Amino acid sequence: MRAATAEERYHVRPLALRRTVNVLSVDVEHWYHRSCVPGTQYLLDVCDAYGVKATFFVLGKVAMEYGALVREMSARGHEVASHGWSHTPVSVLSPTQFRDEVVRTRDLLASLTGQPILGFRAPVFSISRETWWALDVLAECGMRYDSSVFPIRGLRYGIPDFPRKPVRYVGNGHSLIEIPLSTLRCAGINIPVSGGGYFRLLPGIAIRWIVGWVNREGLPFVTYCHPYEFERQMLLHLLPFTPFSWWGARRDEVKTNILRQTMRGKIARLLASFPFTTFKELLRDEI
Ligand SMILES: [Zn+2]
Repeated sequence: MRAATAEERYHVRPLALRRTVNVLSVDVEHWYHRSCVPGTQYLLDVCDAYGVKATFFVLGKVAMEYGALVREMSARGHEVASHGWSHTPVSVLSPTQFRDEVVRTRDLLASLTGQPILGFRAPVFSISRETWWALDVLAECGMRYDSSVFPIRGLRYGIPDFPRKPVRYVGNGHSLIEIPLSTLRCAGINIPVSGGGYFRLLPGIAIRWIVGWVNREGLPFVTYCHPYEFERQMLLHLLPFTPFSWWGARRDEVKTNILRQTMRGKIARLLASFPFTTFKELLRDEI
């Protein structure tokens, strides 16, 4: 008997997009005690400078605190989507708790923007094989797409055998588009390259080469970043108000600050070099 394909395993089918346009997405959350507002304002301005619209996955707690910022994202032509309410990984939520987070955030963001909320990104890319049920919950809550699957073998997240391309998940009486984060396929392995710490570590020229390579495969490049990555100051944990040990906090600071000052230049060159848009626009004919 032949083994099931990845598409059969995850109940997905390929999605043929008419255009290959890249997506800039921002996960809008604070960095511990550092507000996400200055970094978000920087990103809104840099998008304006290059005529780019982005998708902002906003945390419900942030939206409750900074409603004017969410309204501004929408007023400036960007897509506002959901990053959940409390940044709790899906893996530690029950389906009922997850549904409550999705509905609560969806309703708040919709009331702030006056627009339906169509998309979701899970905290810490926490939709995995074990939490695959979350796609059913998202579809039942009216979400039209999700971009939480990282098709890699990661320490904290990832589904290594998931397709690298946009697919449609078909559940029981509903469906949802899944747009995985971009990877580079090399020697039979998917290498994570699409944002965050990977962008901080990679040289800008390498990032642009990878985006071109992924586009030549006929795939949109789906990138992600966080407002704190565009802060100019060192990001420091203010002990004792962190969940880390002293050493854990120092390690996290090094990881967060290393090469972070290169991010402004890298994003600007990227937006100048390739077309970027929102998920909503990329999926215009599908949702
Ligand atoms: Zn996040």
